[in-house]
Amino acid sequence: MILNPVDFKNYLYCPRQIYYKYVYKLEVDPTVKMLAGSDIHLIFSRIEKRRSLKKYGIENFKKEFGIKLYSKEEMLSGEVDMILKGEEDFIPVDFKMTEISFIEGYVLQLYSYSRLIKKVFNKKSDYGFLVFINTEKIKKIIFDEEVESQYLSLKNKIFEMINYEKFPEAVNYDRCSECEYINFCGDTE
Ligand code: SF4
Repeated sequence: MILNPVDFKNYLYCPRQIYYKYVYKLEVDPTVKMLAGSDIHLIFSRIEKRRSLKKYGIENFKKEFGIKLYSKEEMLSGEVDMILKGEEDFIPVDFKMTEISFIEGYVLQLYSYSRLIKKVFNKKSDYGFLVFINTEKIKKIIFDEEVESQYLSLKNKIFEMINYEKFPEAVNYDRCSECEYINFCGDTE
């Protein structure tokens, strides 16, 4: 079983999304909002290519965009928006549409990229950046022991849910109206 870094974010949004994806193997069309988001993502990546590194507070790093990464050992595969490649450190950068107060899912997704980077490139990757497109705010995330432990614990939970086919409770039914799986949840209004 191979997870995608985005699964960590989506599990915390609603664990049923991951259940549907891996247990029922449902393929659903993206919502209009998701399609608009990926268009904006692409445009933002093009703009970001021409910008300096000043706002990240670092120098002498090369930007690379849309890098696909895979590690059997990490049981992960996914595409990171940007990697800042330095001599010793490779730093993952994830572009997000809007800043939200509960960013644990974003942090664990970003950390998953750093684990992939370490395996694929054999480089240090001890921190990363979240870039919020709506405000252009940048948040530096340090991958400390707490992040690692949250990641490992969530990964176990996800595998347990999938392997034992434990259908999860929804986290928050207010989120259903924006969810691409709404037609599969019988208990949503
Ligand atoms: S419709 Fe609601 S309960 Fe169902 S997967 Fe989506 S967010 Fe979760």
